[in-house]
Order: sequence, then structure tokens, then C-alpha cells
Amino acid sequence: MNLKDYVTIVQDYPKEGIRFKDISTIMDNGQAYKFATDEIVKFAKEVGTDIIVGPEARGFIIGCPVAYALEVGFAPVRKPGKLPREIISVEYDLEYGKDTLTIHKDAIKPGQRVLIVDDLLATGGTVGATIELVEKLGGIVAGCAFIIELSYLNGHEKLQGYNKRALITY
Ligand code: AMP
Repeated sequence: MNLKDYVTIVQDYPKEGIRFKDISTIMDNGQAYKFATDEIVKFAKEVGTDIIVGPEARGFIIGCPVAYALEVGFAPVRKPGKLPREIISVEYDLEYGKDTLTIHKDAIKPGQRVLIVDDLLATGGTVGATIELVEKLGGIVAGCAFIIELSYLNGHEKLQGYNKRALITY
């Protein structure tokens, strides 16, 4: 299956000049969604995975079926104010300004092998902050998996030394 055929490119969303890669047209096709999930499951098995971590919100859509298939847990990474119990947080740079991501303090046990899953790797800010959260809790980042990588934004530079898999590259 050529997964790229199922991505919809939306010009000038959310701002002028951005070509938004919409993966909802992978998700709404049962075969494409299963194919994408199965590919990430294969990678997860290759690198060895005890738990999946995904940043909100599309990281949930991709990560949860992978966790289900592997019979491992899923831990959500969320914006501030969304997780009810004790958290740790990491601040990271955006193009203009800063953002913060959080995770429950007990979500990962020290030494667990963590696969980080998200829909898209752009500048790598989101995955970089997620790696920091996982490592602060003593987790080992086994790998990072994405449906799409925008290679021209150089997110891979933040992933040097980590296993990475992207199903589609632009
Ligand atoms: P970054 O932190 O720069 O790697 O951006 C990653 C997040 O931003 C991903 O989780 C995507 O949801 C979103 N994103 C960034 N650029 C795009 C794009 N061109 N199309 C769709 N989503 C994008």
C-alpha cells in the first residue's frame, strides 16, 4: 500500500504558506489505518517496547492502536492543566514563543523501554520535549515513530542517537 496516497495536503492551513498534512484521511480508511498501525507495531517489536508514549492529540490516535496490538500500556503527554495527578513538565521552543508538555510522574517506571509515537515530525520540538519527559522519569527511549516526517524542517537533528521510523517522508 502507498500510504502517501491517503494523506490530504491542505494549502494555507492553519496559516498562509503552510501545507498542512492531514492524516485524518488515513484514519478514516480502515485498511490504511491498519497498515500504518501494523508498520509501527513492526518497528516497536524491532526496538523492544514496554510502553507507548504519545503527545496530544494525534499521538493518541496513532499510539493507542499500537499499544493495543502489542498488549502494552499507553501514557499520554498533554498540555498543562489536563492531567489530574502529580506531573512533571518540560518547556520547549516554538517558532514564536514557548510551550509546555506534561506527563504523570508515575506513568513510566525507571528502565522501561518507551516508544514515542506521533503523527508528524516537523521541527522536532514536540518529540524533543517528550524525550526529555521520558528520560526525566528514568525511561529508555527505544525509538520514535511517525506517520510523516517533513525532512526539510530538520527534526531528525533532535533525534540523533535515537532509533527513528517515519512511514512517509516529504
Ligand atoms: P514539531 O514539534 O515542529 O516537530 O511539530 C510537530 C507537531 O506539529 C506534529 O505533532 C503535528 O501535529 C504538527 N504539525 C507541524 N507541521 C505540520 C504540518 N505541515 N502538517 C500537519 N501537522 C503539522
